[in-house]
Amino acid sequence: MGKRILVVEDESIVLLDITYMLKDAGFDVVGQARDGEKAIELAHALQPDLVLMDIKMPKLNGLKASEVISNTFQIPVLLLTAFSQREYIDQAKRANIVGYLVKPITEASLIPAVEIALMQAENTKKYQEQMAQLDETLHNRKAIEKAKGIIMKRKNVTEEIAYNKLRRLSMNKQLSIEKVAQLIIINDQKQVNR
Ligand SMILES: [Mg+2]
Repeated sequence: MGKRILVVEDESIVLLDITYMLKDAGFDVVGQARDGEKAIELAHALQPDLVLMDIKMPKLNGLKASEVISNTFQIPVLLLTAFSQREYIDQAKRANIVGYLVKPITEASLIPAVEIALMQAENTKKYQEQMAQLDETLHNRKAIEKAKGIIMKRKNVTEEIAYNKLRRLSMNKQLSIEKVAQLIIINDQKQVNR
């Protein structure tokens, strides 16, 4: 299935042109907008894989719309810019822009840029998922260590016995060992606060 793309451009002829080129290359143009406000609305409603965004537009300019779209909906944005808008590039860095294309847009420049932007977005997403996973693993490991410590202190037992007790509790209560550890920590904090 083709990747879903939202195209935002206030000049109708450019909007049509880009849409045609994308469709021709097998992409699915799920929406079109001609100003920044509509872009935000459609990005929210359609959740596209990528937004192609013009900078100079009525109502809300493309940079401000990009900031909202990338930060609020975590959707990557590829900017469409004219040479005269180079001063915007620094601002673009802040808006989590995956790239920018300089007008006039040709098929030869558009398609590879879109493919790279999609790939980058995919990698970023994977990386963030891995980081979240790692964070959870570390968090769980810390919880197990802490719970083990609580049991060792309370029951005056060795680390091995404390760990076995954790495992037994986990099996008996049919909860993950991480969950049991967290419950022990919470329970311990309650007793401390009492
Ligand atoms: Mg424009």
